Amino acid sequence: MPYPNEHASRLGHVPTVNNQTVQDAFSRWQVTQARPDDEDSITSQCVPVDTLANPVQADDVRFAITVDGSDYEVEATRQYPTVKVGYLRVAGSFLDLDKLASSGNGTFVNPREVRAAHHESAFDAALPGSRLVRPGSSGVDTWRQEVDEFLGRTRFDMDSPYTLADALLTMHGTPGRPASDLPIRACPACPAKFDRGHEPHVTRSGGTCPACGTHLYLADVLRTHDEYVLEGSNLSAITRVMLVSERLMTLSYLEHFYANIADAQEVFKRTIFITDGPLALFGGVAPLKRRLQHYHEAMFRWAEGKGTSAPLLVGVEKTGSFVEHAELIKELVPRGSVMRLSTDYINRITGRPPGNKYGTDEFYGRRFIYRTTSGDPLVITVPPKPGVLPYEGPGAEEFGSYPILRSICEVLDAVRTRLYPNAVIPVALAHNAAALPLGVGQSVLRAMAQRGVGLPLDHQIRYRNPFH
Ligand SMILES: [Zn+2]
Repeated sequence: MPYPNEHASRLGHVPTVNNQTVQDAFSRWQVTQARPDDEDSITSQCVPVDTLANPVQADDVRFAITVDGSDYEVEATRQYPTVKVGYLRVAGSFLDLDKLASSGNGTFVNPREVRAAHHESAFDAALPGSRLVRPGSSGVDTWRQEVDEFLGRTRFDMDSPYTLADALLTMHGTPGRPASDLPIRACPACPAKFDRGHEPHVTRSGGTCPACGTHLYLADVLRTHDEYVLEGSNLSAITRVMLVSERLMTLSYLEHFYANIADAQEVFKRTIFITDGPLALFGGVAPLKRRLQHYHEAMFRWAEGKGTSAPLLVGVEKTGSFVEHAELIKELVPRGSVMRLSTDYINRITGRPPGNKYGTDEFYGRRFIYRTTSGDPLVITVPPKPGVLPYEGPGAEEFGSYPILRSICEVLDAVRTRLYPNAVIPVALAHNAAALPLGVGQSVLRAMAQRGVGLPLDHQIRYRNPFH
């Protein structure tokens, strides 16, 4: 409690940082993020992007589809401040890059033209926090039912019947061939764990635990219920659902074009798919990254068969320790060059022990730092070619294992320098779309069709998915 006349700091931690014990402790430590002493450890890892292979011409890329989400946990009522409600929102944001280019005349941007170039499709969900249950159900069972219903009813785009549950099944299959059911490794209700090949399976309508007879839901495969707590904050479980939903939305766009358009490779050549954050999944949902990896590998192989390259898929980070590090070392990365981050280097800058296996369980792409021609550093994650794992085994650290790296850097460079000096414009627009209240829904698919890419407007959407 503050003394009379003492103004409490709005930042509660400031007095603590000034505390002598804390000051003494700081003098014993150093920040792991410090710029390495040997500049060579950075400069030797950089190459100019225009020396890399170039299977997709960046100039051909006309559209960006960016997925971003936001999540909150709020007190349900003033009367019961410990009763919490979770809220998440995911937005798919479409940007016509040609229109964007014409809206920028030097440094002047016409906001009306930017608006005309931009469409967004969003969905949201309320999830039960602590002390909220469906009548007759426990807290954790309520959570499982709500997540399952959310996946089953949420369409990724208003012009498509395809739901997040469909996308989850597709993620466990290959492009155009969704899995019909998914294995559950551990029962959410009893201690039973099942060996590979002996798991109970869940379909869209669920399944049954052979050990205890409890009903299993499709959403149980996400295992977000493991992080649900009866008392306190459920924000981390809510965030897991949001991150998976973002990945499912991106996959839905890829799958939509793949499964419904005869010459889908033409759409992929002209479109960049941006995810907010790294191409990775953490915590209980991390095992899903292998499914995403397999799906993208299959897409890559299909594209190679068509004589083209994989869809341009990239994660762009706005915040976090790698963004801070990139800012710290950017002067050492020549403009227009991309820096490879070896696992040794990552361990060093993040304070992990030498030999630590970084990223193997979470990442389905590898991080790079790209310095744009205007001088800003971007932290990006790019998927490898088939047969290479991003953080383990041969080829993981080779530039040649990431054939779409150059095109991605060049496209991002264009959308960065054209308009705003400190943001990649598709990510900035998607972030707004994810943070603002849900407005009138728009269809990204419709916006594509209106530009002659994707399905014509009067096309009856038809799915190869046999489970509808
Ligand atoms: Zn059970």
